[in-house]
Amino acid sequence: MEILRTRLISASWLRAASTGAFQLKEPLNYRHGGRVQPHSGDGDSMREKVHEPASGRVICDFLCSGQQEIDLAVQSSKEAYKSWSRLSGSERGRILLEAARLIREQREDIAIVESINTGKPISESRADVDTAWQSVEYYAGIAGTLAGQHIQLSGGSFAYTRREPLGVCVGIGAWNYPFQIACWKSAPALACGNAMIFKPSPLTPLTAVMLAEIYTQAGAPNGLFNVVQGAVQTGNALCQHKDVAKVSFTGSVPTGIKIMETVAKSVKHITLELGGKSPLVIFSDCDLENAVKGAMLANFLSQGEVCSNGTRVFVQKDILSKFVEKVVAKTKAIKIGDPLLEDTQMGGLINRPHLDRVLSYVKQAKEQGAAVLCGGDLFVPDDPNLKDGYFMNPCVLGNCKDEMTCVKEEIFGPVMSVLEFDTEDEVIERANNTNLGLAAGVFTRDVTRAHRMAAALEAGTCFINNYNVSPVEIPFGGYKMSGFGKENGIATVEYYTQLKSVYVEMGDPQCSF
Ligand code: NAD
Repeated sequence: MEILRTRLISASWLRAASTGAFQLKEPLNYRHGGRVQPHSGDGDSMREKVHEPASGRVICDFLCSGQQEIDLAVQSSKEAYKSWSRLSGSERGRILLEAARLIREQREDIAIVESINTGKPISESRADVDTAWQSVEYYAGIAGTLAGQHIQLSGGSFAYTRREPLGVCVGIGAWNYPFQIACWKSAPALACGNAMIFKPSPLTPLTAVMLAEIYTQAGAPNGLFNVVQGAVQTGNALCQHKDVAKVSFTGSVPTGIKIMETVAKSVKHITLELGGKSPLVIFSDCDLENAVKGAMLANFLSQGEVCSNGTRVFVQKDILSKFVEKVVAKTKAIKIGDPLLEDTQMGGLINRPHLDRVLSYVKQAKEQGAAVLCGGDLFVPDDPNLKDGYFMNPCVLGNCKDEMTCVKEEIFGPVMSVLEFDTEDEVIERANNTNLGLAAGVFTRDVTRAHRMAAALEAGTCFINNYNVSPVEIPFGGYKMSGFGKENGIATVEYYTQLKSVYVEMGDPQCSF
């Protein structure tokens, strides 16, 4: 681990910032082309500490941005917007393409920082960085294709539509995919001609500012992508700002509701990417090995801290015991530990309160009659450096019933609930019996059943014979209280542009006055 830390310290962007052990000193706000300390006139600003989930150590702290810093960031982004929105799509695309190349080039540095800050295994952080540059590259390609429509009307008159950017957009991120979220929001926003101010979660502030540096290096005008750091107050002030045109939010349902209320007052555009409690339905005619893999992917990536996780695993009666045997064996074999080691499969949860919360869900599940088939307790690594890390053994809960809390609420940790079912109609009704609808999955060899299920399941994404894959070409977003609006895919252009209709009269206006 120390070898990797040394490597991190020698990573170019951190060289000047680090002293001895990994301790970040550089400012984490990014405004008008450079890292800055937030404006010091904001007397009520709070300081936030950033922890390393693997060791519990504080790796840095920062001052939350207040109103004056936000005003400066918005002013800077408005300035960038003026020149950026006048470029052709292809010109914007060229800069984004260079940004994608730079992300690829810095993949390892970004992935190491992401793993240190989120606790997730390095192999997963690398995959996250890949989905991030792929998004920037994809929208770089789309930028030059943005166009309106020509509509022929009677008498030679015609109309055309212009697909115009919105202005200064705000992106607010969750802590589980910090770099990926920043890219998934900024790439389409910038491709469409907008500027963006991004506020990461206060728990994971480190990599968004690396992205800001990359955009500047790639040739983006100063202010096109600014980063402000902070928590609730900072996010709220951004959402209220009169010169912000849109808020794209990723986070929990309660915060999404608050943000929706806030932006309603100034009728801003909004995208909400919220939580889930997704069903994964496994029929007895499935390929069992693949279904077990699917259940693992649906529950244990990123310590189970994944919004689209299929945590309600419905298994058809006749294969239940075989499925449980295999899934428990695989879960017990998960290698937990230092996220920077190549063979680690699960790291620490994001912080102590969250770990306690996840463990208390397991305790409550037991009290309500679920059987803990494995895990659900603290994991203590052998490495003494990690003794204060936030680790737990991944858990499979058997004998689960629809009304149990573990089946109804998003736990956001490595806890799989297994439920038995009998018929297709029954499982559709039970799977849809939730006010969330982010994702769903089905494993079956019956092709007609697979598509019937995909149509019947009330979710924004439905996986057939796989789970939690997110190619950039596919729109991603929720149904019901999991939110609205999309990220990824061409569909996202709709959420970062507005359509203007221009009517052109070629004759004389007909007027009854
Ligand atoms: P959270 O709602 O606590 O915080 C998310 C962000 O909102 C943070 O940056 C936070 O500082 C900010 N915030 C908090 N209050 C605010 C306010 N009043 N106004 C503006 N901003 C405010 O969520 P979290 O704990 O960071 O993330 C976990 C949640 O995110 C889970 O529910 C998970 O399912 C969800 N999530 C959803 C997706 C998706 O794409 N649908 C992806 C990742 C995570």
